[in-house]
Amino acid sequence: MKTLDDALVGLPDYDPNALTVDAARSIVARLAQPVEAIESVAVRSALDRVLGRDLISPLDVPAFDNAAMDGYAFAGDALAAGGVVRLAVAGRALAGRPFGGSACAGQCVRIMTGAHLPAGCDTVIPQELVQTDGDEVMFDATAVQARRHVRYAGEDLAQGQPAMLAGKVLRPADIGLIASLGIAEVPVRRRLRVAFFSTGDELRSVGQPLEPGTLYDSNRYTLFGMLTRLGVEVLDLGVVRDDPQALEATLRVACRDADAIITSGGVSVGEADFTREMMARLGEVAFWKIAMRPGRPFAFGRLDCDGRNALLFGLPGNPAAVMSSFYQIVRDALFAMMGAAPQPLPCLPVATATAIAKRPGRTEFLRGILARDAAGQWQVTVAGAQGAGVLRTMSEANCFVVLEHGRGDVAAGETVGVTVFEGLV
Ligand code: AMP
Ligand code: MG
Repeated sequence: MKTLDDALVGLPDYDPNALTVDAARSIVARLAQPVEAIESVAVRSALDRVLGRDLISPLDVPAFDNAAMDGYAFAGDALAAGGVVRLAVAGRALAGRPFGGSACAGQCVRIMTGAHLPAGCDTVIPQELVQTDGDEVMFDATAVQARRHVRYAGEDLAQGQPAMLAGKVLRPADIGLIASLGIAEVPVRRRLRVAFFSTGDELRSVGQPLEPGTLYDSNRYTLFGMLTRLGVEVLDLGVVRDDPQALEATLRVACRDADAIITSGGVSVGEADFTREMMARLGEVAFWKIAMRPGRPFAFGRLDCDGRNALLFGLPGNPAAVMSSFYQIVRDALFAMMGAAPQPLPCLPVATATAIAKRPGRTEFLRGILARDAAGQWQVTVAGAQGAGVLRTMSEANCFVVLEHGRGDVAAGETVGVTVFEGLV
């Protein structure tokens, strides 16, 4: 386990009081160690899990030479003489029902897509390109080239080659590919365990009455959603009062039971903000502010208690700040801890329809709506109120508009970075 000092060595802009987003990401990456245990699960249960070892193909894919089109299989040598080619139909090959014999010179075999290519054949001519009376086919030698319309054994994947590398987050195509190799059990990393809780005397849980000055806790719901989508095991530790003893007790439970802990609230410099202080008592704090908006107060470090340790992400309390700091900072770290290869969020250039006021010196993640304009071009519009507490615009938005650290005001029509919320999963 790296010490915090090791992790901070050589970082050019390490200012724990106002770290750039890139520096924060790199510190977090240095401390995020993958869980080691690997377990074996059935193929369908491997969906969204992280592949624990390289998968070596036990088969050639395709396993045998086969037709890529419905037509007639024959030896491509027959094309060499040019002119009109006439071949006698020697039999039929269907997918799963091979032609038992072999085609001799002057013969062809009626063949359907996916059928085993008969011995003596290396070329398929699609049925639309021939004339036939059933017993014989005729076509011009220029209608097809030798070896065309055949899928050769091993051309997609050769036996003994790696089919998939460790660290892959398994998507539908991947579990399909695994099944196509006849592999029934997949080695995956054990699930990462992530504990989370909200802090704040003002918070009430759904189902409780709201007295004056109180509000419903939403962060445990957005965090539940984001963590569940990531495929981690979640441990919801509820709402913790703004009280150092209660906080310490909950952090100890979290450190005992989880690999990572996510808290919200209590990381600024208010009188009831104890998270950072408690993190320093029970472990080490790497930084507590990031030059980003929303999400500036952000305490990150490691807890070390009762012989166990866990990374702690102390997110701000404001609901939209929780979500942007989760996606922009925490997500990468959790993937790394899950043993996944880096899964960078694409940030694509798109023209903004809205002018945006921006001060250089912090990275901003605005809530945006990506849609087509009247001419059919994709453009992004800023989604209403951008206060760190406004969850409604986070719900209405479908992307982040990313404005880089050094950037100033943005005029309508300029290109901005856009990270869409939903990907193909
Ligand atoms: P804090 O970071 O604790 O100062 O909280 C900042 C703001 O976020 C305050 O207005 C809190 O009431 C609000 N807040 C904190 N935690 C939550 C939560 N779990 N759900 C909704 N709002 C919250
Ligand atoms: Mg608070």
